[in-house]
Amino acid sequence: MEHDFYRILKGLKLKVTPKRIAIMEIMAAEKTYMSPDELRSKLKQRFKNIGLPTVYRNLEELAKEGVIIKIIHPDRKLYYFYCHRKEHHHHFVCVSCRRVEDITFCGMEEIKKEVEDGLKGHMVSHMLQVYGFCKNCLIKQVVSQ
Ligand SMILES: [Zn+2]
Ligand SMILES: [Zn+2]
Ligand SMILES: [Zn+2]
Repeated sequence: MEHDFYRILKGLKLKVTPKRIAIMEIMAAEKTYMSPDELRSKLKQRFKNIGLPTVYRNLEELAKEGVIIKIIHPDRKLYYFYCHRKEHHHHFVCVSCRRVEDITFCGMEEIKKEVEDGLKGHMVSHMLQVYGFCKNCLIKQVVSQ
């Protein structure tokens, strides 16, 4: 198996439940971001009566541990994405095909410098998500023109 979800949950000190395993399985297989409602439709095949609040609660718990990433989309809706990379990194989000890719370069040093030297403050954390069109979508655009 590509991802040992049982071991991942144990490693995060989260209780291993069939729903959490299913959420991670589905989202890892998708490789694109999903809305809680889309995830719920897929979960319904296994858990017939699963409600949206349960889906949200589990997603938030997994997001808190960093194994699920929240996508704050320009369309103002909230989506989620599975990413198990542990090292600090950011995400590139394709707004056309919903693909999410890792950006391993951070580039926050200059902002930190501005905060600390310019504003005389101290930076504790930061958030950065980049939106655009992925390589595949750009190729499709060119082909269809
Ligand atoms: Zn794309
Ligand atoms: Zn990632
Ligand atoms: Zn960063």
